[in-house]
Amino acid sequence: MAELTQPATVLSVTDLTPHVRQLVVKPKTTKISFQPGQWVSLKLPVGPRPPLNRAYSMADPSSPYGELTLVFDRVPGGLGSNYLYQLKSGDEMTLSGPYGNFILPPALDRELLLIARYTGLVPMRCLLKQVFSEKIHVPVLLIAVAPSEDEVLFHQEWLTMAIQYPSFRYLPLVVQTGEADAVEKTLSMLNPLVNDQPKVIPMLCGTKSFVRPLRAYFMERGYDRKDVKIETYD
Ligand SMILES: Cc1cc2nc3c(=O)[nH]c(=O)nc-3n(C[C@H](O)[C@H](O)[C@H](O)COP(=O)(O)OP(=O)(O)OC[C@H]3O[C@@H](n4cnc5c(N)ncnc54)[C@H](O)[C@@H]3O)c2cc1C
Repeated sequence: MAELTQPATVLSVTDLTPHVRQLVVKPKTTKISFQPGQWVSLKLPVGPRPPLNRAYSMADPSSPYGELTLVFDRVPGGLGSNYLYQLKSGDEMTLSGPYGNFILPPALDRELLLIARYTGLVPMRCLLKQVFSEKIHVPVLLIAVAPSEDEVLFHQEWLTMAIQYPSFRYLPLVVQTGEADAVEKTLSMLNPLVNDQPKVIPMLCGTKSFVRPLRAYFMERGYDRKDVKIETYD
């Protein structure tokens, strides 16, 4: 089936951290119904051969009015994210979707272990909102890795969730010295949580250099490749 590409209007622009921005956009032709964890493809009028396709995960579950919440960081020199950073409310963009299968597995019979770095937390927010709004009974542990103190994405929201829902645990980790160190520190945090413990359902999101070593860690501990759900951004 041909993909439905449609115009969408930017409804609002909000800075969440010094380098992360949220756009709420509303598709103009057809409401996009999606599962938490999925993403849309933006067709941006930049680059040597426009449109430039860039994927963005939804940060909020489907709303009755059809607006989509997108959250992204400004990548230094990045064509797509820098274009998005100059959009204002009322501007138009072109998009299609939804796509992707980074969604909750059908059987949630073990603890859900969500691990993400920086804007990798965007689909996690959507998934967690689903877990709590649909009253899905599963313990959840979120490890949220950030590149600096002021870039811990959705920090207040995770804290509020942890107070509200006793089945939810939140472990923030700030690593300022780059992605390799972020992997190493995340692995140290994981050891007591995974070694000699009952199996969990791991879901990992971020760039490949963050996600792949973590998936390898789980596989070395007897997890099947298909049991470790991943979404990579690059
Ligand atoms: C399925 C999927 C979902 C995604 N969802 C989101 C999302 O919700 N929020 C979001 O910010 N991005 C998301 N991305 C990444 C996004 O599509 C773009 O790749 C990102 O905004 C960078 O695009 P750019 O053109 O500005 O930079 P490019 O010129 O494409 O440069 C990208 C390079 O910058 C680095 N980088 C730093 N931050 C990011 C980042 N966030 N994503 C990718 N590369 C990064 C990588 O090393 C990469 O090689 C998603 C990607 C995929 C495939």
